[in-house]
Order: sequence, then structure tokens, then C-alpha cells
Amino acid sequence: MRVFAVAEINFGELDPVSVELLNLANTIKGDGSAEAVVIGSSISSHAEKLAKYADKVWKIEDASLENYNPELYVDVLLQLFQKEKPDVVLIANSSRGSEYAPLLATKLNAPIVTDIVGLDVSDGVKATRYIFQGKLLVDVLVKQADTYVFTVRQGVFKEEKQASGEVVDAGIKPSVTPKREFSQIIEPEAGEVDITQADIIVSVGRGIEDASNIELAEELAELLGGVVAGSRPVIDNGWLPKDRQVGISGKTVKPKLYLALGISGAFQHIMGMKDSELIIAINKDPEAPIFGVAQYGVVGDIFEVVPALIDKLREIKG
Ligand SMILES: Cc1cc2nc3c(=O)[nH]c(=O)nc-3n(C[C@H](O)[C@H](O)[C@H](O)COP(=O)(O)OP(=O)(O)OC[C@H]3O[C@@H](n4cnc5c(N)ncnc54)[C@H](O)[C@@H]3O)c2cc1C
Repeated sequence: MRVFAVAEINFGELDPVSVELLNLANTIKGDGSAEAVVIGSSISSHAEKLAKYADKVWKIEDASLENYNPELYVDVLLQLFQKEKPDVVLIANSSRGSEYAPLLATKLNAPIVTDIVGLDVSDGVKATRYIFQGKLLVDVLVKQADTYVFTVRQGVFKEEKQASGEVVDAGIKPSVTPKREFSQIIEPEAGEVDITQADIIVSVGRGIEDASNIELAEELAELLGGVVAGSRPVIDNGWLPKDRQVGISGKTVKPKLYLALGISGAFQHIMGMKDSELIIAINKDPEAPIFGVAQYGVVGDIFEVVPALIDKLREIKG
């Protein structure tokens, strides 16, 4: 299978989801190829980086592609795919991907499944995704087609597969004048945190009781070199911003350490963190379901255990 992963570039930086798409491409390619497509201007370093995970990297470079424009993306991708005939196209399930992937699929006359968390091509094409706001996981059997398009949930395919591909200039330039023009980038406020990329997450649940207690988690996270995230009630209460929510209606995370403080472990939360390398839970209820996924558990009050942990860490660090 020829599997093409379209890289995502945000504010001139290569988004880590680009490598995740290639990880999936490498998993399903069989004796075919995992190929990346990088679109933009001044993208050579991004292409070189992706070549470590791809059999081939296609560069589509033009000054007019400096800023994302869905019409131009679809135009240049169509030009490439009409020549190169991909079997599968993988696009990030980001706000951009969600915009241009359906446009592209329509033009390619290809079926599309969005926000997938699994893909099996061993016997037909079967994509796994959540339905009913995450209450159920379903396998979608996709009708046979020449090309399939999928948008892929961020943070799921993190296991890296190395390769050593070549970078090729696709020699493609936009052939349309877009109806929409780029006007400006409004950058997110400084200090925003991407929890999907964090190695250490200190995650708080309703057990933290109040916004003013979040600083306890922040102190612990700082000592551990991690970031603070939370369960849905914490976000619904406005104690942490929405982009810190872990779970099916939040983010999927796979850190090296997930420290759950006062989180019961509802399945909607577990689905977003169960693949973390090490899960440690602190909860005063010994029956809390979070202990079912945690490697280590402390049955205790977070307002006693966390300050003790902070003291110990300070002592170790001197
Ligand atoms: C469609 C849908 C989507 C959802 N999506 C998400 C999602 O993405 N993410 C998510 O997290 N939830 C989600 N939920 C909500 C989910 O069902 C749970 O309600 C939620 O995860 C519970 O959060 P919690 O564990 O913080 O709170 P609770 O379930 O109230 O648990 C609080 C825990 O804290 C413990 N505790 C209390 N005080 C202390 C203390 N002092 N010391 C130690 N432990 C203490 C308690 O024993 C308890 O186990 C969703 C629900 C629906 C219906």
C-alpha cells in the first residue's frame, strides 16, 4: 500500500502529529511505502526531519503556500495524488484537517472516515472511531475504493517507526486563485501548554475541590518537570482551561508518568490516559476505578499526600 501522510505545520513549526501520521502509515503500509507530503514555503528542514520516519517525502514549496489556505492545499494535493495514486491518505484531525480533508476526499471521489483512533487494512479496510460522544467505540468497514482518506486523532499513534527516506521536490505549484485570502495569524496566549506532548502530567479531578487548590498540583508538576491537566469537571468548573482536559471529549495523552489526583476513573477519562507508560493514582476511595488502570495507587487524602510528596521532592532536590 502507498500511504501518504500530509504534514501539519503551525506557525512555521512542524506539528508532532505529522510524525504520528507517519507512525500509522508505517504500521499499515505492508510491503508498500509510507510517504509524507509537506506543504508550505521554506520547508526543507521539516522535510528532512520527516525523512527519518518516511520512505519518501514530497515537498510542495511555494511562497503562496506560506500560510494555510484550504483551497490551495486541496489544489496542490490533488495535483500530486492524480500522479502518485495513493491507496490511503492520512490527515491530522485538527481544525485544518477537518476543513480540507472532506474537500479533498470529495474531489478524489474517495470515502473518508474522520477522527480515527485505529486502522486495520489486513482484511478490507476497517477504521476505529468513537461514536455517541465517546460512549462507544466502533469499527467502520469502508467500502472498497481506489483511495481512502482518514483524519487521525492526535496523540494516539506515538510509537515511532524509524525510516530513512529521500526528500523529493514534487515540482507542484498552486493552479487556482483562492476565493479566500490569508489575513492574519492570531497567536494563542503565551504560556499555553500542549498536554499531548508532555512527558509528565499531574492530573487533577473533582477531588481537588476548588480552583485555589490547583496551585498544589502546579507546585508538584513544577518539581517533577511536568504540566497540569484535569478531568472534565475541573474544566467545566473553569478551574483549568479546556485544552487541559484529558478524556474522550478532551485530549488523548500518553506521557511517561500520569499522576491522577482525586480522579475517580470514569471510562470517559480512562480512554484518554490509559496508554500512559506509568499511572499513579491518589484517591481516598479504595474502590475508585482509577486503581484498576494504575500501576501504583495511594489510598489517601490528596491534601495530605501531595504536600508530603512536595516536601520529599524538595528535600531530594536540595
Ligand atoms: C459524553 C461524555 C463525555 C465525557 N468526557 C469526559 C472527558 O473527556 N474527560 C473526563 O475526565 N470526563 C469526561 N466525562 C465525565 C465522566 O463521566 C466523569 O463524570 C468524570 O471523569 C469524573 O471526573 P472526576 O473523576 O474528576 O470526578 P468524580 O467522579 O467526582 O471523582 C472525584 C474523585 O476524587 C476522590 N476524592 C475526593 N476528595 C479527595 C481527596 N481529598 N483526596 C483524594 N481523593 C479524593 C473521590 O474519591 C472520587 O473518586 C464525560 C461524560 C460524558 C457523558
